[in-house]
Amino acid sequence: MKIKVLEKNETNIRLIIRGVDIPLMNALRRIGLAEVPSMAIDEVVMIENSSILQDEIISHRLGLNPLKTDLDGYNLPEDCSCQSEFGCNLCRVTLTLDAEAKEGTRTVYSGELISENPNIVPVSDKVPILKLAKGQKLKLEAYARLGKGKNHAKWQPVSVCAYKYFPKIEVPSKSCEDCTKCVDICPKKVLTMKENKIDVRDLLACNLCMDCVEACPQKPPAIKVEWEKNAYVMNIESTGALPPERILQEATKILDKQLKEFEEQLKVKEQ
Ligand code: SF4
Ligand code: SF4
Ligand SMILES: [Zn+2]
Repeated sequence: MKIKVLEKNETNIRLIIRGVDIPLMNALRRIGLAEVPSMAIDEVVMIENSSILQDEIISHRLGLNPLKTDLDGYNLPEDCSCQSEFGCNLCRVTLTLDAEAKEGTRTVYSGELISENPNIVPVSDKVPILKLAKGQKLKLEAYARLGKGKNHAKWQPVSVCAYKYFPKIEVPSKSCEDCTKCVDICPKKVLTMKENKIDVRDLLACNLCMDCVEACPQKPPAIKVEWEKNAYVMNIESTGALPPERILQEATKILDKQLKEFEEQLKVKEQ
């Protein structure tokens, strides 16, 4: 397997991956979405709520707020040694909120949540939770836990985890009449006219829609669009809970563990 990093920042990573088959790529994609744990608020104790929103709606909104996650410092509740319904310091983080509209109507933002662990805080402090009218109050205690996207989307560490085939475009100059129909129809502006010839401007933008092939008046079409075997462009966009490269690393560890378990179970069956 060969990996080339095309771009990487705090929340996004774009890679070219070569030398693997589709089932492996799909397993990594699905594990990234459904199995890599992240932190999210799972329970809320409402101490005072005189806003017009019901407790359940506020709790739901709090749950969907992405939280920065420390995978090395916390256990999944089901794996934690405490095995307690209420959790312990190794599987639960408490966040509190105490807001009041003293002057007039105001918005309560995620940044007002105070966490007992400064590493487990909302990814953005500008997410609106609710509005309070003058005199209204909201006071609560929220408990965040690690969880998996397969149980609830709030635990999904990614907003995008996808791959596409690596495109291959050829325009043989013999049969092409340079009519530019393929350039005009391309929704991704992949093609351009350069020195009176069709040229590929941005190959990786191609989504293999085949519009250019269908638009070509030549029979057979002068433009040829294919994909490279066992080569992909993968894009992982984190919610901010974990760095995107960590999500991929965790996905490979989880896949490895699952395959070992599968192997063990096969051995048991054979005996
Ligand atoms: S296949 Fe679609 S995206 Fe790719 S070059 Fe042709 S028209 Fe553009
Ligand atoms: S549509 Fe076909 S003939 Fe026209 S420029 Fe494109 S490849 Fe050439
Ligand atoms: Zn615990």
